[in-house]
Amino acid sequence: MGSQEVSTVDWQGKHVTVAGLGVSGIPAARALHERGALVTVVNDGDDERARAQAAELEALGITVRLGDGATLPPSTELVVTAPGWQPDKPLFLAAAEAGVDIWGDVELAWRLRGTNGRKAAPWLAVTGTNGKTTTVRMLASILEAAGLRTAAVGNIGVSLLDAVLGETEYDVLAVELSSYQLHWAPSLRAHSAAVLNLAPDHLDWHGSMEAYAADKGRVYEGNTVACVYNVSDPATEDLVREADVEEGCRAIGFTLGAPGPSQLGVVDGILVDRAFVANRQKQALELAEVTDVNPPAPHNIANALAAAALARAFGVEPAAVRDGLRAFRPDAHRIEHVADIGEVAYVDDSKATNTHATEASLAAYDSIVWIAGGLAKGATFDELVTGAAKRLRGVVLIGADRALIHEALTRHAPEVPVVDLDRTDTGAMSEAVARAAELARPGDTVLLAPACASMDMFTNYNKRGEAFADAVRARADQSA
Ligand code: ADP
Repeated sequence: MGSQEVSTVDWQGKHVTVAGLGVSGIPAARALHERGALVTVVNDGDDERARAQAAELEALGITVRLGDGATLPPSTELVVTAPGWQPDKPLFLAAAEAGVDIWGDVELAWRLRGTNGRKAAPWLAVTGTNGKTTTVRMLASILEAAGLRTAAVGNIGVSLLDAVLGETEYDVLAVELSSYQLHWAPSLRAHSAAVLNLAPDHLDWHGSMEAYAADKGRVYEGNTVACVYNVSDPATEDLVREADVEEGCRAIGFTLGAPGPSQLGVVDGILVDRAFVANRQKQALELAEVTDVNPPAPHNIANALAAAALARAFGVEPAAVRDGLRAFRPDAHRIEHVADIGEVAYVDDSKATNTHATEASLAAYDSIVWIAGGLAKGATFDELVTGAAKRLRGVVLIGADRALIHEALTRHAPEVPVVDLDRTDTGAMSEAVARAAELARPGDTVLLAPACASMDMFTNYNKRGEAFADAVRARADQSA
């Protein structure tokens, strides 16, 4: 079977165990039941919400077992799991021992695409440690500008299963995939795919950096047109080399420098394509200007180039790349400019929850008052602080693990003033902003890029970003 063809599984009477009620489990159970499978949902929790969800599924004729997500039902022929479930769970070990396949939500969506009488749209896939959501949204914007019916789906708003089984027919999907999802997606074959970057993350789940990289690398398996890699992150190119792709599929690099043949890059403020042109030895095609990218921070230009590469691999014209990038608006809390107060810019990058993301965000400004801290998730900060030291006007630290960042600053940037805020109440962010404002000079940027998770002080990174923006706006109103 060709890699892009629709697979035909005979679901009638097949015993499928769905692991986990929840955003992916419930639609999976329903879809399989509708196709004639004998579905059992197993779930660790047994609370009121789970019981209500179970009752709805049971009314359809689906079996639900609450309070035991560990034991494999004896007749199971296939396990379909929620992506977050730890791979060493007893349920999976039992399945492996019994020779039973385990699919995640992405694998299921891939296998069910085209089975509802609609066209099976090809997938353009994006993974990487940071920048996935931004790149996928840029890509969808470019595809739309080209007049294609598309959506940004996956580990982002719309679930893949809804996208492939819903009413809307698509020409192509822009798909964000996490390393967890790729782990459980053995037969996924994207038209083209990009790995944006690779830095240690989620290692507790994957077990090691090698295992994490290998899962990311699965996105390239069976690509038909292009495997897009980051020239400045050789680990991504290694993954292309290791991948088993369709005959004729090309490796396409993206770089912030001048591109070589088969690369996209930047020349004199112009994004150029030296990959999808007739004579790539001699020719480069103008796609857009750097200023068309919103915001034009270096890492975001890299995201734009990756999105452009995937769109060009799909045959999109250069003008649509430009129009799509111009139309793109970044999601909230991703290098979001909140206000200028007295010639100081205030920028919310609350989504920078790890050091790799924060490194990119600190690289985007020349003189910074940095607000950082929270839950470090096992990270170390020496490299981050060393790289940014010269650009730091001052630092305001918040959150549970702020001492780790403080120690790194003492070691590598002892001259940089640090305010260490020992409070976690609702007024803490407002004080952090006030202290940052005291440190800032005209021309500086006050940047919230915490390099840490937010859950010690906030419900999530959105709430942390909102607290920052609220505090900044309150100051802006005062000074107006
Ligand atoms: P993801 O979906 O991978 O979490 P996002 O697009 O939501 O990525 O961006 C998350 C954070 O990562 C942003 O706030 C920004 O700080 C940082 N970031 C975005 N793109 C990149 C990149 N190409 N390299 C490094 N960091 C990035």
